[in-house]
Amino acid sequence: MPYADPKKNLACKLRWQKAHPENFKRYYEGHKKLHQFRCERWLKKNKSRYQALRKKHRARKDIKRAERGYRLKALYGITVEQFEHMFKKQKGRCPLCSRRFSKTLRPHIDHEHASGRFRGLLCATDNICLASLDRDRTWGRKALKYIGRK
Ligand SMILES: [Zn+2]
Repeated sequence: MPYADPKKNLACKLRWQKAHPENFKRYYEGHKKLHQFRCERWLKKNKSRYQALRKKHRARKDIKRAERGYRLKALYGITVEQFEHMFKKQKGRCPLCSRRFSKTLRPHIDHEHASGRFRGLLCATDNICLASLDRDRTWGRKALKYIGRK
């Protein structure tokens, strides 16, 4: 241990990891099971501490934004900027029913199913209806006929 002070020691360790990414990666690959075992043991011993740390971490605005970014990219292939741009463009409303998005009326990402193109933000109800139209363009006419029948 190069330093008796654990803070200095950790800083030194992190500097080394940054300076030697290949060595660090190789070490990690070779000691994966050991690392996982130690992590799990620490988690079991420090459950409440871990939960408190996690809560604090997730409450950070930058972390929240980053997590939202990963989710949007992974699920819908769009960036937070694209989402926010569309939200502003639509003035925070669903373009089909004109209701304002809120905590109870969340915006849903609408994309063309065939191409995957991001079209805009809709309320959940209209997004589901549009999915039916996407599947079958005559759905709307059929639905109107169905509603009007006696
Ligand atoms: Zn709507």
